[in-house]
Amino acid sequence: LAAAGPTSVTGPVTTTDGRRIAIVANIADAKDADRAASVGAEGVGLLRTELTFLSAATEPTAQEQRAGYAATMAPLAGRPITLRTLDAGADKPVPFLNMAPEVNPALGVRGQRVFDEVSAAPDRAAVLDRQLAAAVGGAADAGVELKVMAPMISTADEARRFVTRARAAGVDQVGVMIEVPAAVLNAPELLAEVDFVSVGTNDLTQYVFAADRQSGPLAAFNDPWQPAVLRLLDQLCRAAAVTRTPVGVCGEAAADPALAVVLVGLGVTSLSAAASALPAVAARVSTIDLATAQRAAQAAVAARDVPSARAAVRDVLG
Ligand code: PEP
Ligand code: MG
Repeated sequence: LAAAGPTSVTGPVTTTDGRRIAIVANIADAKDADRAASVGAEGVGLLRTELTFLSAATEPTAQEQRAGYAATMAPLAGRPITLRTLDAGADKPVPFLNMAPEVNPALGVRGQRVFDEVSAAPDRAAVLDRQLAAAVGGAADAGVELKVMAPMISTADEARRFVTRARAAGVDQVGVMIEVPAAVLNAPELLAEVDFVSVGTNDLTQYVFAADRQSGPLAAFNDPWQPAVLRLLDQLCRAAAVTRTPVGVCGEAAADPALAVVLVGLGVTSLSAAASALPAVAARVSTIDLATAQRAAQAAVAARDVPSARAAVRDVLG
């Protein structure tokens, strides 16, 4: 019988030679937050906020939003929480935003594009401002340290406009998600605008391969072990080392212990995944030194395909 794996994240997680790695949770509601607290998550790397909006015929009031965030955050009082602003789109429609139907929603007006001045009506931007204010209020009520990030950013100017709005709402730590290949190609300029970035490997992978993440026939492309994805992450981390911008990962990649080691080797310092995945990820990261993680990362980046990337990392990690 296989021994049972670890059931909680014990203590601040570091590599054996002391590189601090934040082990944080992806959550969407108070139940997820309870689970995150019970496995010892150090905080939240991705609070998805679509839940209260997706079915809403009218915009939730400021008070409803604030109370909702406070309730979701309360189980994690005292810990840092990164809230992602609304990631709506034609595939995740929000009735009161009156979004036009689109033939290809994944490539359309989604995420921050919904609110950005390039495409948005002024009343849409006000929805974002109210969400940001509610996030600040809810975090204060729950006693958590708030960070905020925007989804679907591709350029430095989009990042700058979001940061300006978030700071105006009173957010101290402002970042963006890296989910579009252009955001990596624009990294030197984009990183200069933000306090941190968090890579959404689910969307980044689908956009790198132009392969719908929900497509069964294309599932082999949608694998974060794909060297093309890891090469982009490598490029991002190299740019982030220059600007000294912290890089996190909050896509499915962070839930895989061997891949988590690769991410650490690339320079990622925060791993966010479903609570159930965190103990094994924390345990794996705690057993390696940074030089070994870097060797694993180099091997994966240099591989020609997914099976060779996995095999090369297995060879390094044993
Ligand atoms: C991602 O794209 O990897 C991500 C974390 O965001 P979501 O899965 O909510 O699109
Ligand atoms: Mg995403």
